[in-house]
Amino acid sequence: MHVFRLKSEIIECISLKKGQNIGFVPTMGALHAGHISLIEKSVAENDFTVASIFVNPTQFNNPIDLEKYPRTEKQDVEMLNKAGCDAVFIPAITEMYSPEEINGKIVSKTALVNLGLLDKVMEGEKRPGHFSGVMQVVSKLFDIVAPSNAYFGQKDAQQLAVIKTMVNQMGYKINIVACPTLREENGLAMSSRNMRLSVDDHKVAGHISATLFKAKNMWRDSNISVIKQYVNSAIKSNPKFTLEYFEIAHAETLAPVTEKTNPSVACIAVWIGGVRLIDNILL
Ligand code: AMP
Repeated sequence: MHVFRLKSEIIECISLKKGQNIGFVPTMGALHAGHISLIEKSVAENDFTVASIFVNPTQFNNPIDLEKYPRTEKQDVEMLNKAGCDAVFIPAITEMYSPEEINGKIVSKTALVNLGLLDKVMEGEKRPGHFSGVMQVVSKLFDIVAPSNAYFGQKDAQQLAVIKTMVNQMGYKINIVACPTLREENGLAMSSRNMRLSVDDHKVAGHISATLFKAKNMWRDSNISVIKQYVNSAIKSNPKFTLEYFEIAHAETLAPVTEKTNPSVACIAVWIGGVRLIDNILL
């Protein structure tokens, strides 16, 4: 597997793949089986698979979260290699951004994308600027890698919807492939942030997905306010949890729904031991 740190290196490598299908999996590293499932899907569906590892500073609205974000590059490279990935791009911040872009003096070309409600509800509301940073880095990576197919996890359902909107509005000829959420044995959605949980919190965190699964079971026979009440009290019953939001939204637009609409998605954000976890389930 090639390990590239410069844009020029990966651009040259891709230029030699004319006529081949390029699959792309952008990540922030600290890889787990969830990321690897995206790599494996890309390897199966493309001639050449590129991953990227870049902890993108412009998408972190919380400096402590950025500082504490786990970094396990050596292990990540080994995991990618084992999964059959062909190349990984691991740029430094200065390779991706000019100082003016970092301090916001130059706006990203993605600033014109109209996200509608997508950056105003749930993750958009709670993490101001997050999706602008996500679009900024993903469009830069798309321009560098020029993939045919790009793979994103349903785990970050709102991010997936943002990327699809950006691709449509900016006219990228890239097929966005949604991939199912991989879970740990106790049901907890795999996440790089899980590494920061204490052993006890890790066990207890399985309760978040259990609550979502129960909400899914209630979907057929209960109305939305009853489901919301159930989730609120189930999460609040454990003092370790702080519920940031629980919302039922249209699965494609992510607009919150009050009447039952299909397809819908139940989305949750919970703090536990200083770690913010998100999860969702299609209803
Ligand atoms: P991240 O490194 O957290 O930015 O994630 C990189 C990609 O992996 C994103 O498209 C995520 O949605 C996806 N991903 C993260 N966790 C999981 C998971 N548990 N199952 C499937 N995909 C995931």
